[in-house]
Amino acid sequence: MYDVVVIGAGASGLMCSCALKMKNHNLKILLLEKNDKVGKKLLITGNGRCNLGNLNTDISNYNSSGNINKFKKYLDIRKDLNLKNGIIPICLDNENYIEYLKCIGIITKEDDKKLYPYSNQAISVCKSFERYLKYLNIDIKYNYDVTKVENINDVFSINDDIKSKYVVVATGGKTYPKTGSTGAGYEILKKFGHKIEKLYPSLTYLKTDYKYIKDLFGVRFNGIVNLNVNGIIKETEVGQIQFTKDSVSGICVFNLSRNVKKYLEEKKKVNLIINLVPDYSDYELERYIKTFKDYKIEDALSGIINNKIASAITKQLKVHGKLVKQINENEIKSILFTIHNICFNIIQTGDFDNAQVTSGGANLDEFTDGLESKKRKGLYAIGEILDVDGKCGGYNLSWAFTSALIVSNEIIKTSRK
Ligand SMILES: Cc1cc2nc3c(=O)[nH]c(=O)nc-3n(C[C@H](O)[C@H](O)[C@H](O)COP(=O)(O)OP(=O)(O)OC[C@H]3O[C@@H](n4cnc5c(N)ncnc54)[C@H](O)[C@@H]3O)c2cc1C
Repeated sequence: MYDVVVIGAGASGLMCSCALKMKNHNLKILLLEKNDKVGKKLLITGNGRCNLGNLNTDISNYNSSGNINKFKKYLDIRKDLNLKNGIIPICLDNENYIEYLKCIGIITKEDDKKLYPYSNQAISVCKSFERYLKYLNIDIKYNYDVTKVENINDVFSINDDIKSKYVVVATGGKTYPKTGSTGAGYEILKKFGHKIEKLYPSLTYLKTDYKYIKDLFGVRFNGIVNLNVNGIIKETEVGQIQFTKDSVSGICVFNLSRNVKKYLEEKKKVNLIINLVPDYSDYELERYIKTFKDYKIEDALSGIINNKIASAITKQLKVHGKLVKQINENEIKSILFTIHNICFNIIQTGDFDNAQVTSGGANLDEFTDGLESKKRKGLYAIGEILDVDGKCGGYNLSWAFTSALIVSNEIIKTSRK
């Protein structure tokens, strides 16, 4: 009989197992993983760099239909960090996940508020966890797919095979299923009566039917993006925007993607309205354009916006090929308006196969402040399986690690009683 079985050796399951054993070496812990190695998803995070967290710990970076605010104090790592030129010193005096990562051998550094492993490699994070599991003598079974969890007389039975006093479900969400997170954990929690909030792919690209989207393939720039739903601006993001052959992408579009599938299912009209040149007013742009009266309009514009966008806009407004001096006042107004408000009608989002995170999941309010199930004592859930998702920038891993530490503290507390 084990004290704790942790299901899933992803970010949260790895942190939870290590933290439990670090706090009480006598605990008998078993980590179950359906893949043949740990952290398959962790390995591809942050484009292979693994963005572990963010120094902007504002709770508004997290979404949940439950009360995420009660976890604010755990997620707020800033006050505990003693940064020197962006480098976090090696000392183990605080109880946040950055400190635990240090114990495991993962030193963190900051880049524009985002936290990365000092090695700049996700693989070093996985390897450090692997080595630490060994060092702590934590049992791990690979290629072990958990399909059944029951509780009989206050003892958990896993696949009619393994017995444990506590079970931590750390099976992740539903995105990138090839990494192992196929959504199996939702079924485990459902069997214990948990409500699963509707699942949507989040942090993903948005498909558009903009007539000239193919021509914009590969364009990247910084701008302001507004998410407009049925004529109302719901959210705004500033940052890098990218076009693919049929979609608008980039970090700020990812951050706006969370509710888009839901809006589309509700038959709402969703547009991305982009300000291509936020630094210049209509007046300044008009003066600039009119300086080049003998140029074709698309050539005049391409001095200030990407030439592929200049070409698309002038085709869209049917002024392509005209000289600036031939453009009338109404046409100038339309050009200026479009530069500041180019509109992309959204018809679809990326799906679970390519979204970075799942929004929705196990209802947070059905868990205590220590993330113990209110339906079944001794059952816990951590990481992406819960109805918590964050923006790009390290928030999803910080939730995975932080929720793991919350549960490790809780289990240590209750197992002492
Ligand atoms: C391409 C990509 C890039 C990302 N980049 C970042 C980033 O830079 N920063 C950031 O904060 N977030 C990032 N994320 C999100 C982040 O990776 C996840 O939110 C985080 O890994 C969730 O951790 P988790 O422990 O809940 O689940 P996971 O890391 O998904 O781990 C779940 C584990 O459980 C195992 N498992 C599932 N079901 C079973 C079962 N039935 N039996 C046994 N084992 C099972 C799986 O095989 C898996 O190993 C990225 C995601 C993707 C897809």
